[in-house]
Amino acid sequence: MIDRYTQSRALLKRAEKSLAGGVSSNVRRGDKPVPMYFDSGTGSRLFDVDGNEYIDYVLGRGPLILGHTNAEVIEATCRQLWMGQVYAAQHEGEIKLAEAIVRLVPSAERVRFGISGSEAVHGALRLARAFTGRELIVKFAGQYHGWLDNILYSLSPPPGAGEEGVAESRGQFPARESHIAVLPWNDTEAVGSYLSKHGHQIAAIITEPVMCNTAVIEPKPGYLQFLREITSRYGILLIFDEVITGFRLSIAGAQGHYGIRPDLSIFGKAVANGLPMSVMAGREDLFALIASGQVGHGGTYNSLPPAIAAGVATLGILERNDGEVYQKLQETGTALMEGIRDRAAKMGVPVIVQGHASIFFVGFPLPGKERVPIVDYKTSLGTDNDLYAHFVSAMADNGVRIIPRGNWFLSAAHTLADVEETLAAVEESLAQVVVPYYSAVGSAR
Ligand code: PMP
Repeated sequence: MIDRYTQSRALLKRAEKSLAGGVSSNVRRGDKPVPMYFDSGTGSRLFDVDGNEYIDYVLGRGPLILGHTNAEVIEATCRQLWMGQVYAAQHEGEIKLAEAIVRLVPSAERVRFGISGSEAVHGALRLARAFTGRELIVKFAGQYHGWLDNILYSLSPPPGAGEEGVAESRGQFPARESHIAVLPWNDTEAVGSYLSKHGHQIAAIITEPVMCNTAVIEPKPGYLQFLREITSRYGILLIFDEVITGFRLSIAGAQGHYGIRPDLSIFGKAVANGLPMSVMAGREDLFALIASGQVGHGGTYNSLPPAIAAGVATLGILERNDGEVYQKLQETGTALMEGIRDRAAKMGVPVIVQGHASIFFVGFPLPGKERVPIVDYKTSLGTDNDLYAHFVSAMADNGVRIIPRGNWFLSAAHTLADVEETLAAVEESLAQVVVPYYSAVGSAR
């Protein structure tokens, strides 16, 4: 068989002598079929150093809502770069972007800018603890809120783990019961019962409003409303981590889509279409603690001028023509989701396709788990990760780049023609690895 990735393999080998593990983020080590090296991207397409072209559904793991190298965003960024890269001081652009976010996101009365989602989450947790005078943070199993010590717990806890936080990394501070508790998502009873015992110790409940980091699970009807009401009752702050859903599900994020007003929100990724930018947003009375300097928040690169310029340009496009971008995402995403279901059904293999048009999950159930709906972390363990990894490699061979964890990101640059081409690759890849797998399992039964 021809190796389509010889240059990537060679660069990885070279990189391993200077970069730890050959990569700059641990998750990239797990890319399939190999950690690839890229030359360039444009629109929906990405080109690797071996000369392979891909329709890209990784999209920088979320930021590229308008696709690679959107001309308007690049022009705005370059114009700013020639006027200065970093001032570490005020500039009018940051006011423009703050004003746009305050106007577009109803819960955002005040904002602060940062660079990564992880640090913005860190800031929001600090603010919540300061405001409430309480220490305990509640998160949900299977959710990811960045790689920092205070919250990197229980993304993939062992099955059967309880409320204690399970550290994801060696070297992390051990999870203390008084600092972090982990509950199952989409489970009103679990939250109600935990809060009836510990409600008055909890500073904040942090949640992805759609569980994008595990199987893109939607909240059950009324679940977010329930979280809103019960947190208010106990004086707990509700934090929405909208790093993925922000400016993707709607111009007002998941909170706009579901009509819930959290106390604090975190945005990142799509806000600047690929330039580094994160946002803490929320109630004015909370941000008064930052405004007065009682709660520390800083950063040399906060409100980085080129990233702000990219953000202003991106939101300008997203707002244009009555949300034309979102209508397009809806149309192409729905066609893609339905097309994948349809192809799998025709070929007689089970597939799970769930989520939203602009961010959805594809997975294959473990044999025997075909009828178990994925509603939380526990039920997400019923998918066959090894089989999906083989599918991801086959898709790359067939010209489509997807994330091994199963989430597919869509951009406004993707067209219905891209969808058709992608579905042909899906059909080919199903035939190559998925059909033989299930028929082997079936005949072994
Ligand atoms: N929160 C969520 C929901 C995320 O998906 C991520 C990153 N994937 C983060 C926070 C961390 O953001 P960053 O990688 O920019 O630090």
